[in-house]
Parts: sequence; structure tokens; C-alpha cells
Amino acid sequence: MYSYEKFIEDAVRIKKEYCDVIKCETIGYSVCGRKIILLKLGCGQTSFFISAGVHGRESVNTPALMRMIEKYAYSFGDDSILNDYSFYVVPLLNPDGYVMALTDSKFSGYKLNAERVDINRNFPSVHYKSGGTGGEYAGSEPETRALMSALGSHPSQIYIDIHSRGEVIYYYRAAMSEQYNERQLVIAERLSKVTGYELVPPEDEIAEEDSGGNTVHYVSETYGIPALTIETLPDNVDFPIDSLYSYDVIRHLELLFETLTNI
Ligand SMILES: [Zn+2]
Repeated sequence: MYSYEKFIEDAVRIKKEYCDVIKCETIGYSVCGRKIILLKLGCGQTSFFISAGVHGRESVNTPALMRMIEKYAYSFGDDSILNDYSFYVVPLLNPDGYVMALTDSKFSGYKLNAERVDINRNFPSVHYKSGGTGGEYAGSEPETRALMSALGSHPSQIYIDIHSRGEVIYYYRAAMSEQYNERQLVIAERLSKVTGYELVPPEDEIAEEDSGGNTVHYVSETYGIPALTIETLPDNVDFPIDSLYSYDVIRHLELLFETLTNI
């Protein structure tokens, strides 16, 4: 398993080793005081914003993104996409939930933060619901506010939130216009073609009672930019997800990154 400490150590190390192409900043602190890190990969004007680790138990996407960032930085040269593009990456938004899922077998399926709030139900949006795992009010959690502030400081063209499991892409946004959703569909279809992940039909996106307050709702409604949720790995993988699976995830994320630069 890829520990939180290893994650922080790697962030500090790659920032030093690849200082020409990687920048690192702390965008906030979790309920328990753990650092929430943002890495900027690349020097280009066009930028994309990627987040992961919103749900504690989905513990594979953090090591996958870290390995991928290092791989891109290592091969940085004149013909690299990093000359034209930048990727703002928050590899672990919910470090407390991550540590709980990884270190305590009673919490192996834990997805919330340390206050028992689902960060992915806590963002301000039209269909936000307070109470339960949505939190007392929208943006009540420090993890939520950290991402909101980072998104505000780093304007980007497209936002992707990476989760697990299911190998699917959520693209339909009920609160947004038909025109917005047409663009979402174009991007989702391109990503689906390269990764093999299926598109979740619009009716399934809004079927769940508790489907408000997601990161992608906040981003689409606040900034009007494309905002998609991608679920890596098949449904039968156990929680917390072994970091060995990160090699499968990297393959798909690389295709995804390359495709983003061609949209
Ligand atoms: Zn999730």
C-alpha cells in the first residue's frame, strides 16, 4: 500500500528533482491537520485540473497519478506536451479518509472524511443537500474549501475528478444547459474511445437521491467548464485498492491526459 507519508515524501522529492517542470503547493489541511497538496506539472498556457482521492477507500488513483507525474517529468524535453500544457493535480483530497481506509481494517470501505462527511456531497451546487453525509452546509469541510480555493487560483480548461470503481465516465450535468451537455458528451466519447470506459446514461446520473454536491457539479455550475467524473478499475476490485493496480490505472490515465491535449 502507498502510505500518506510516502505520498508527501514523493511530492517533496519530485518537486526538487524536476523543478523545471513540477511545482508543488499546500492548498489546505484536512480535519486532522494533514496537508492537501497540489502539484503543477508542465509549463504550458493551456491547463487542465485533475483531482483524486476524494473518497478514502479509492486508494489507487493517488499512487497512479504520482507515478505518472514523475514519468512525464522524467521524459520532459523539447517535444513534450508539457511545453504547451499544464496539469494541476490534487492527487489526494481526503488524506484522513485515505489513512483510515489503509491502516484500519474496520474502515477498509471508508469513503468519508474524519467528520463523517462525504466530500463529494459537500460542494455548493444547485442540488446540494445538507445533513447526513452532505455535511452541515455546503463547503463546511476544510477539504472541500481547499479544492474550491485551488480551483479559483488556477483557472483551467477542463476538470476531471478521478474515482474508482466501475470503468465508467459520468458526464451529464442536470443543472447545466443542453449546449453544455453536448460538449460534455463530445469529450466523454473521446475519452471513452481511448480508455474503453462506458458512458453513464443521463438518467442514471440523476437517479440517485443523494447525487448533489459533487466536485463536478460545483465546477460546472461555478466556472462553466467541462467537468467529468471518471471511475477507474473494474467493480470487483477490493477496498482499499492495492497500489499494485496503479500500473493498470496509469495506462488509462496516460491515454486520458494525451486525449485532453487533443480536444
Ligand atoms: Zn468515489
